[in-house]
Amino acid sequence: YDIIKAAYATTAVRRDQYPEGSVPEVAFLGRSNVGKSSLINSLCNHRGLARVSGAPGKTQTINYFSAALRRRDEAEGEQRLPFYLVDLPGYGFAKTGGKNRDMWSAFIGEYVTQSPNLCVLCLLVDLRHPGLAIDQQAYDWLSSAGVPLQIVGTKADKLKANEKNRNLAQLNKLFPSDRPALAYSSLKRDGFGPLAKNLFERVL
Ligand code: GDP
Repeated sequence: YDIIKAAYATTAVRRDQYPEGSVPEVAFLGRSNVGKSSLINSLCNHRGLARVSGAPGKTQTINYFSAALRRRDEAEGEQRLPFYLVDLPGYGFAKTGGKNRDMWSAFIGEYVTQSPNLCVLCLLVDLRHPGLAIDQQAYDWLSSAGVPLQIVGTKADKLKANEKNRNLAQLNKLFPSDRPALAYSSLKRDGFGPLAKNLFERVL
């Protein structure tokens, strides 16, 4: 598996600005600073694609990146699946109080419920801290809205193997979904294979 030809496509803040057509979408969401931009850049092998850090919580827009999932298979040859990576604004930034928070949930709510092409939403959780209340709230809300989820534990390189397994098990218990939670490290691109396979199968 690989992700190729990643490029910025468009930005939306309202439904009528979502891209037209039926290109499947994989969305990424998580607490500010969880490593979302780094993960998108690392998945795409494209350093400056999504911005890293800068001003967390400030960019309240939905950014679409076009890319293709490529699979090479001995029997079937090469398959290319065009899709959008959709970067959703992070939650839980300290300065995002009252009014901002309502705006955030209306905004994300509109996207997750009204995007016909959304195939799977990757909910990013810092693998060192499974079960933060704010992540639990996001999970509860998304799962009650019926959004297909993939839980991704980020910054996996900061943990030893046994801690990694323990925390993944914890994530699976707290945030159950159709498929098991996966660990990922943006530094080493560790965990790319299983994540890309999971996304590919859900985008197909
Ligand atoms: P975002 O706010 O969720 O987009 O988070 P960023 O991608 O900007 O990352 C926040 C911070 O965590 C930055 O300092 C990154 O360098 C760091 N970071 C992100 N991913 C990883 C990772 O996989 N491993 C390590 N060690 N640090 C990471």
